[in-house]
Amino acid sequence: MVQKEFKAESKKLLDMVINSIYSKREVFLRELISNASDAIDKIYYRALTDDNISFNKDDYFIKIEANKDTRTLKVIDTGIGMTKEELESNLGTIAKSGSFNFKNENEIKDGYDIIGQFGVGFYAAFMVADTVTVTTRSIDSDEAYKWVSQGSDGYTIETSEKSDIGTEIILEIKENTEDDNYDEFLEEYQLKQIIKKYSDFIRYPIKMDVTESKLKEGSEDEYEDVIDEQTVNSMVPIWKKNKSELTDEDYENFYNEKRYGYDKPLKHIHINVDGSIRYNAILYIPENAPYNYYTREYEKGLELYSNGVLIMEKCADLLPDYFSFVKGMVDSEDLSLNISREMLQHDRQLKLIEKNINKKIKKELQNILRDDREKYENFFKAFGQQLKYGVYSDFGANKEVLQDLLLFHSSKEKKLVTLEEYVSRMPEEQKYIYYAAGDSIDRIEKLPQTEMLADKGFEILYFTEEIDEFAIKMLMQYKEKEFRSASSGDLGIDEEESKETKEKEEENKDLFGAMKEILSDKVKDVKASKRLRSHPVCLTAEGEISIEMEKVINAMPD
Ligand code: ADP
Ligand code: MG
Repeated sequence: MVQKEFKAESKKLLDMVINSIYSKREVFLRELISNASDAIDKIYYRALTDDNISFNKDDYFIKIEANKDTRTLKVIDTGIGMTKEELESNLGTIAKSGSFNFKNENEIKDGYDIIGQFGVGFYAAFMVADTVTVTTRSIDSDEAYKWVSQGSDGYTIETSEKSDIGTEIILEIKENTEDDNYDEFLEEYQLKQIIKKYSDFIRYPIKMDVTESKLKEGSEDEYEDVIDEQTVNSMVPIWKKNKSELTDEDYENFYNEKRYGYDKPLKHIHINVDGSIRYNAILYIPENAPYNYYTREYEKGLELYSNGVLIMEKCADLLPDYFSFVKGMVDSEDLSLNISREMLQHDRQLKLIEKNINKKIKKELQNILRDDREKYENFFKAFGQQLKYGVYSDFGANKEVLQDLLLFHSSKEKKLVTLEEYVSRMPEEQKYIYYAAGDSIDRIEKLPQTEMLADKGFEILYFTEEIDEFAIKMLMQYKEKEFRSASSGDLGIDEEESKETKEKEEENKDLFGAMKEILSDKVKDVKASKRLRSHPVCLTAEGEISIEMEKVINAMPD
């Protein structure tokens, strides 16, 4: 039996590429620019083995030209070009990637990674163009060829004229319809934005003729339009630069340019990892919480790049919720992208990166806490609540990561303290870490329940936020010291207490009995206490739930 080869239903396939793969039309430009960059890289590789070719990086560029009158957009490159056969096989077959084969046949050098792999990106051009014309001359050919297609009806190839090696792609941009507007793909400003967004770190200059209104020479108030060829992309990604070359200002500029926030970052973290997974990252801890930070609208995530090309604007999987305030980007060459290059095929690499990043953020926060207390307290004002939510959520699974990053108000000098500080100065006879909850520090200090503890000289943590006590319940203990609410029935303080109070209870048996009767279902018991100083009476809770927690729980919607 003869086995027949499958024939791809090219038309359907092309329809799919044009209509269903990409979530945003503008990525067509990312795809064409990526191809142009690959084509230039291929000259670089050729030069490595061919003495007749020298590769001088400065000679190579990509140019974008828009013309509103003719409604055309050109993408021109000085890359390796295509022979007639290559045109036929690379652009004539959907899902055929010359670049993928190239990668298999060549040893890829650091800094010259080829982007292409699936053989579909080119066709994204048909999302915005009715007709696409590719004129190209290969480094291996004296002749130039022209490939023209209107999409699913096929293509033609004929000989053409082109003096330089390279490729010129002309898109005839679609007319606007009622529902769709394509004009932005002819507008200088918008094209620049798209290039900046996706292709800012392509290694070769992406040039554009930019019209600028300038003062006429010799005149003080007359302007004229001057056309200026500008390089739109920044080329060298800041995250690939050496840390020692970069100043705080560089990082701040990047933060602003990328609009990670409108504040100044409190701290940046620059990571270069060359281990089992390779990635670079620049992360920021913002100074202020965004206005919607503690709402559902806030979306966490880092920008994800693959080889300097933007893949995802907000990759949520890179950050745990408790560090959701972190901004920045990750670039890796080890990601397995899906065909749209907007998502990942599997997330094993991502998980590794997330784990790694997580550790670095924690380390950095600890460093700030150790070296710059004021800065840390500012950070904590903005994002401390989120860390406490982090302790509480996932059934306390993250407590190891977070417990040393927490700060609480304390009776000691009215300062914010860490649990470590609290425990390290506990007197020997103190069994528990005491805390008291209330609306404000002032009110907590007036609580009768705290009097005896204060009298004994025991430090008390003041919980002024609702989340505090819930978080601590998840921690349960810190360095083997359990937490105990000041309003708890048993404070674990010396024996004599119970002996003396027993006597008192005996003495006042009738009185307590009467009180209990009158208060009936409002209290469980009335007892004598040594806890009080200036107050005649106080409320205590018996079980795990303190009075304050009960209030919060009762206020929760069912
Ligand atoms: P991919 O980039 O994933 O391989 P594309 O559909 O974008 O898929 O491109 C298909 C192939 O066409 C590329 O692999 C490359 O061989 C060739 N190609 C596309 N654009 C160019 C270009 N500007 N110069 C040279 N070759 C190109
Ligand atoms: Mg491509």
